[in-house]
Amino acid sequence: MTARIIDGKAIAQELRTEWKARVDELKSGGLTPGLAVIIVGEDPASKVYVGNKVKACAEVGLYSEHIALPADTQESTLLAKIAELNVDPAIHGLLIQLPLPSHIDSQKVLEAISPNKDVDGFHPMNVGALVTDTTLFPPCTPSGTMKLLEKMGIEIEGKHAVVVGRSNIVGKPMALLLLHKNATVTICTSRTVNLGKYTRDADILVVATGKPQMITGDMIKPGAVVIDVGINRLPNGKLVGDIDFESAKEVAGYITPVPGGVGPMTITMLIANTIQAAERAKRQE
Ligand code: NDP
Repeated sequence: MTARIIDGKAIAQELRTEWKARVDELKSGGLTPGLAVIIVGEDPASKVYVGNKVKACAEVGLYSEHIALPADTQESTLLAKIAELNVDPAIHGLLIQLPLPSHIDSQKVLEAISPNKDVDGFHPMNVGALVTDTTLFPPCTPSGTMKLLEKMGIEIEGKHAVVVGRSNIVGKPMALLLLHKNATVTICTSRTVNLGKYTRDADILVVATGKPQMITGDMIKPGAVVIDVGINRLPNGKLVGDIDFESAKEVAGYITPVPGGVGPMTITMLIANTIQAAERAKRQE
């Protein structure tokens, strides 16, 4: 069997084109959705991510502000900038690129963002609301994965979904979103004994470990839907996921490639959350 490839790049493009119409409608009513992205320091990967976010926003007609602060920025300066953007009517979404330098308390910073502009969905209020399926902003990578499943017409209810990884930004919210769609969910971690026992039983397998190619074809149930969240750069420069694509695609029913699977969906959902925040602001005018 050779798996059907889930083309995240094409699906992301289709959604961005569709959502541009929502942006145009807001603009014709005199409101341009705006996103502010704050980056502290010079981390090269973070700079690439921020650049991509700003570029994608421009493509769909969003206004975006890229605020680059030096690595030695004081926590109080960053908090003051956030307070300013929280009340800026041109800004509907605000995100802080992580990781922050170690002298800054990341949790304190995330809590300073207005929950109404928290398009990354990391504010404790939105994290709590995610548990009850009432969050304003589901975190972008897991919600992008859900969108891929929806677009591919993959049934979730009653299926056994196994999520490998329990980070606050991917694994845990992913498990909750699958649970809200009535999957039976198992979460595996680095402490799981006999990981293959669980992955081989998964109808839907989502892997977010940051361990290159750790899930091989023999760990996958024939016909399963396999979602690879991982992005890893090998010493030879090649970009790979957490799944060994070559062996996995011979067993899986559906599979996401890396790059071009989940990756493009993350920024797409950031755009969606920003448009939604602007639409909400419009309703409250
Ligand atoms: P974290 O390092 O925060 O979490 C990794 C998780 O994987 C942990 O819960 C860890 O378990 C678990 N884990 C590690 N090794 C194993 C193992 N051998 N078996 C089972 N579980 C294991 O990573 P993130 O969640 O932030 O990111 C995961 C991957 O996804 C990375 O490659 C990252 O680059 C990528 N990513 C991609 C995005 C995208 O847009 N496509 C966005 C965000 C991340 P434990 O808790 O026990 O330590």
